[in-house]
Amino acid sequence: MIRIALQAKGRLNEESLALLRESGIKIEESKRKLLSKSGNSPIEVLYLRDDDIPHAVCNGIADIGIVGMNEVAERGFDVDTLYNLGFGKCRLSLAIPQNEKYDNLDYFNGKKVATSYPNILSEFFKAKGIQCQIEQIAGSVEIAPSIGMTDAIFDIVSSGGTLVSNGLVEVEKIMDSQAVLIGNKSLSQEKMAIVSKLIFRFESIIRSRGKKYILVNIPNDKIEAALQILPCMKSPTLLPLADKNWSAMHTVIDEDEIWEKSEQLKSIGAEDILILSMEKMIL
Ligand code: ATP
Ligand code: MG
Repeated sequence: MIRIALQAKGRLNEESLALLRESGIKIEESKRKLLSKSGNSPIEVLYLRDDDIPHAVCNGIADIGIVGMNEVAERGFDVDTLYNLGFGKCRLSLAIPQNEKYDNLDYFNGKKVATSYPNILSEFFKAKGIQCQIEQIAGSVEIAPSIGMTDAIFDIVSSGGTLVSNGLVEVEKIMDSQAVLIGNKSLSQEKMAIVSKLIFRFESIIRSRGKKYILVNIPNDKIEAALQILPCMKSPTLLPLADKNWSAMHTVIDEDEIWEKSEQLKSIGAEDILILSMEKMIL
């Protein structure tokens, strides 16, 4: 049996649970329960605040956990980062009022900066030789400059909309973050075996994200040209059609490339392009 710590509510909760569900792990959806056992796997879920997940995994209260890299870096607990999960993407950046002139990091010498990530920030400034006063606040960091509390902020940015609406501009990105699977450093072999199986399942789900299955009919004399257009995992599947001058090509493409590739295929005489959703890509 292994215990996985997940964020109880917040930005990572839904996607973390979805990843378990898509991995075939059934979790009792009993709301507000701290601990839920899986009905069909040797896994139980411990719901925590994200701040507490690195500590819980470090001291073995949980064996593994899903949390933002930002929290792992800030808390500084000794855990293994096992897998980058590709969701909860954001960055930690320094931002200053829009009307200020900014040239380089020297700007921050002698300034006050508000943040919920004092450890990451002080390490960064120490490495850069900048002397700056850090004000630790738990939330609503972005209003600190407008109420005269600090000169700047260091906070999570994703779209940048919150900064703009508070009259701030991002001037330095200090780290990129995403949700990661972390693990206790001394898991038994038996637990490691379960974790490896879990990572294998996560990998196949994450690999299929943003990908589509494409089927397209191609005149046989255009197959070479079509191969130049469509990338493929090994070699695309080619199936003969009833009309012996034509073949059907099957492969996987990035969702972002669908329209551009379809136009290129059409221009070489391809027909009947079908795009299908994919659930998992297992190896
Ligand atoms: P908790 O109640 O668990 O302490 P929280 O309020 O500290 O939750 P959330 O706002 O739910 O945290 O964010 C959780 C994580 O989601 C962040 O630590 C970060 O890794 C990630 N994240 C991704 N995009 C954003 C964003 N735009 N704003 C805040 N966090 C983001
Ligand atoms: Mg938190």
